[in-house]
Amino acid sequence: MMQPVTRSANAAILVLNAGSSSVKFALFEADGLRPLCRGGIEGIGSRARFGGASGSRAHLFDGAELPEGSSHEAATQWLLDRLRWVDDIELCAAGHRVVHGGPDLSKPVVIDESVMTILEGLIALAPAHQPHNLAAIRAVAEAWPSLPQLACFDTAFHRTMPRLAQLFAIPHALTDEGLVRYGFHGLSYQHIADVLPGIAGERAKGRVIVAHLGHGASLCAMRDGRSVATTMGFTALDGLMMGMRCGAIDAGLVLYLIEQRGMAPADVSEILNRRSGLLGVSGISNDARTLLASKEPRAAEALDLFAYRVVRESGSMIAALGGLDAFVFTAGIGERSAQIRAAIGRGLAWAGIRLDEDRNVAHDTRISADDAQVPVYVIPADEERPIARAVAVQFLPA
Ligand code: ADP
Repeated sequence: MMQPVTRSANAAILVLNAGSSSVKFALFEADGLRPLCRGGIEGIGSRARFGGASGSRAHLFDGAELPEGSSHEAATQWLLDRLRWVDDIELCAAGHRVVHGGPDLSKPVVIDESVMTILEGLIALAPAHQPHNLAAIRAVAEAWPSLPQLACFDTAFHRTMPRLAQLFAIPHALTDEGLVRYGFHGLSYQHIADVLPGIAGERAKGRVIVAHLGHGASLCAMRDGRSVATTMGFTALDGLMMGMRCGAIDAGLVLYLIEQRGMAPADVSEILNRRSGLLGVSGISNDARTLLASKEPRAAEALDLFAYRVVRESGSMIAALGGLDAFVFTAGIGERSAQIRAAIGRGLAWAGIRLDEDRNVAHDTRISADDAQVPVYVIPADEERPIARAVAVQFLPA
């Protein structure tokens, strides 16, 4: 067991969230977890750009320019270099989003070399994310060699799912090798589980669907704040239609492309991961905003299919829960598109959902009609706060 970290009055926790094409960061005051500064770099791999910083210490980034074409490593280093110059903050610990914890890691773990070896062994399960997560951990260790670090997993939240919700109907020997439904977006769901009781009261203990609708999209069925089912699977390709990912499709279609069309696996992967979803169906864009503004019939069809898939999969989540007590929208599309929420709401009228049009357009926290059977909420996503909380619990004396 590690010694608890002693903290000074200006101690801060650093959180890094390295995605496939982005690096987000947040600094939280160790005492009370007030956010001091947060921001991120997007578009890594194409045109990397710093999206700005917010919070009382945002001035740390005044005038700072990210070199054009920065790689993941360069972007992370650039971020850490800025944070190194903070003189009135003392970093006391760091926490990282790590996408895959495999079958065994169901809680945050303190990072050491043996943990890094385990996490490296999971790269094959999340090749687009895990290497960047681990590189961020190494970069922090280099910049602050004695800083304790914690890994928090996207998969961990779903390890509470009953066995049947995790199983695929494949030969059990493959299941035993870890080919199961892991589910993702767990840190986002953890945040909703943390804040929902303060918003929805007793209903938060009931049967809740959370719809994380961003570039990636998934649903989580929760009971008493714990995951009982989710739409993403062994990889983050399963379930809902996404910006560029196809979501659930017939596995036979994949075989057809390989066996009958003679496509290489890498080309099939490119189609399903990067040329499908909103982008593939519309032929226009993976960005919901662009499609909402377009008059092209294909743009409308892509958005219709997106909402239809959320409705269909919600039906499956309601069946897993045995009913529905509350529904939560979060992440880019979930927080900001009244039009897509309205379409999903209409599709779920049978389940007791009815949105209040004015509240929906205003993006209120509760957007359902007063007399609707099931309350519907809009709650901003925050993957960094649950990481900071876990870091505080792990390293900081109460
Ligand atoms: P990520 O999954 O990368 O964290 P976000 O949660 O930021 O992504 O969500 C990105 C998605 O949210 C994009 O499809 C974007 O078009 C959509 N989005 C952002 N703002 C709006 C808006 N005002 N209306 C509709 N969609 C929006």
